[in-house]
Amino acid sequence: MRKSSTKSCRPTSIGITAGGLSRSINAQRIVLAVGGTASTRRLDVPGEDLPIVTNKLGEPHRYFGRRVLVVGGKNSAAESAIRLWRAGADVIISYRGEDLHPRIKYWIRPELASCIRSGLIAARFGTRVLAIGPNAVTLERIDDGSTFDEPIDDVLLQIGFVADGSLFEAMGCELVGPNKAVLHDTATMETSIPGIHVAGTAVNGTQGRYEIYIENSHVHAVRIAAALAGDPPPPDPILPELPEA
Ligand SMILES: Cc1cc2nc3c(=O)[nH]c(=O)nc-3n(C[C@H](O)[C@H](O)[C@H](O)COP(=O)(O)OP(=O)(O)OC[C@H]3O[C@@H](n4cnc5c(N)ncnc54)[C@H](O)[C@@H]3O)c2cc1C
Repeated sequence: MRKSSTKSCRPTSIGITAGGLSRSINAQRIVLAVGGTASTRRLDVPGEDLPIVTNKLGEPHRYFGRRVLVVGGKNSAAESAIRLWRAGADVIISYRGEDLHPRIKYWIRPELASCIRSGLIAARFGTRVLAIGPNAVTLERIDDGSTFDEPIDDVLLQIGFVADGSLFEAMGCELVGPNKAVLHDTATMETSIPGIHVAGTAVNGTQGRYEIYIENSHVHAVRIAAALAGDPPPPDPILPELPEA
């Protein structure tokens, strides 16, 4: 996202609060690398806040012998489903898509596909969660709107994250588009506020499809260092093909 305009103010201080104290640090430049996973995305369905629902896999062995519904169909859901199955859980996947997502990593997909084909992991493709109860989840078939209950003990939501752009907004940096991506000069990573740079996945705000990830973010630091040193921007790196990105 290349910036189209700049404002004239330059940051000179940052307020810091910790344990009720606050102080200011003068800085000519600020780099914000706050990521894009401030909070987990919600389903917004009844029962989502029950204690059996979590967004973090944690230690998979605690699910041994339990029926776990994994909601989602991309890499996190796929990896969690496999790890849960290996740990002895009875795994069911609910995913809105008609099949495994095409961008699941190529070293994860075959094992999951095989487990589904063999009936070791149950896949409820083309479904969405309507409600979560203490012992069952109500799923809706997207194609015909019919519903059915899936008995479960636990629900693991792997449906992505939401970024928090409030720090950028508080500093006056322009955010654009539905993702609230940070407007910036791609050569220097400088935002619409001179002296404030952005690095890492924060660049793209809330990402649905992950276009900015670890590998293609490393160059951000080199661009910012070059800008600070007054050097020309570095060439774009040549990255290996990442079909799952
Ligand atoms: C389960 C899982 C698997 C993943 N697998 C991959 C993968 O295989 N490949 C890949 O490229 N990416 C993967 N990711 C995404 C990966 O975590 C991010 O791409 C990467 O961490 C982004 O780095 P970042 O430095 O931009 O942000 P982050 O790593 O998110 O770091 C941001 C930091 O800023 C801090 N912060 C946020 N707000 C503030 C604030 N207001 N003040 C001070 N500090 C703040 C946060 O606490 C955090 O420490 C995965 C993520 C998850 C959750």
